[in-house]
Amino acid sequence: RIEIENLDKSFGQTQVLREVSLSIEAGEFVSVLGPSGCGKTTLLRCLAGFEHIDGGRIEVGGQVVSTPERHLPPERRGIGVVFQNYALWPHMTVAKNVAYGLKIAGVPRSERETRVARVLDLVELGALAQRRPADLSGGQRQRVALARCLAMESRVVLLDEPLANLDVHLRSALEEEFAAFHARSGATMFYITHDQAEALALADRVAVMDRGRIIQFDRPEALFRQPASETVAGFIGEGR
Ligand code: ATP
Repeated sequence: RIEIENLDKSFGQTQVLREVSLSIEAGEFVSVLGPSGCGKTTLLRCLAGFEHIDGGRIEVGGQVVSTPERHLPPERRGIGVVFQNYALWPHMTVAKNVAYGLKIAGVPRSERETRVARVLDLVELGALAQRRPADLSGGQRQRVALARCLAMESRVVLLDEPLANLDVHLRSALEEEFAAFHARSGATMFYITHDQAEALALADRVAVMDRGRIIQFDRPEALFRQPASETVAGFIGEGR
């Protein structure tokens, strides 16, 4: 379970998150939907522990991980993250990039090899396992980042626009993979997107964000039936 309470975050004079509160059940698939610049990535970075917060608190699995005074580092939060910019290790092969976190986590070699092969197959990169990131296309790098996160089998997985820039065929294959991964693992998923169709198709609940605030947090059908404002109605309507 994730509890975000009255979270405030500023960069210099600019307040980017304003009293953000979200209560997410264990195993829930939540999408955060909103226009570019509304603060989605900043919210994810606060949750993952890459940003300190200015006000409020964040709890993950009953543990307080962020307040303005207390900050648990990212590696101690038990959270998997897929970034927009992939963050791969340039000197390692694709297979090593995927295996590295497993090694750090103490997963034995034979189990590591099995998991790496399985997730690389899932993202259709089995044939490129020995390449380095510099020799891959942008879409292929993105799939390595996804494979790396899926292999970790974290209880909480944060994804920042994981399907942006991918072609249609791969998008729908990976959407299905997210849904299957979620059903199989029971992990809590926190999925950022500016694509209404994607958010509504995948999520148990959607948090709609605008200018640093959550303006509605509800099930997809409720957002259609009862949008809380014209802004929400506008967003949701665009995808149809
Ligand atoms: P996008 O979909 O384009 O990634 P977003 O909703 O994820 O947008 P954020 O990346 O969270 O939005 O950015 C929210 C605001 O905070 C933007 O105005 C951005 O310029 C600003 N911002 C983000 N990171 C920093 C930073 N490190 N320093 C200063 N301003 C920042």
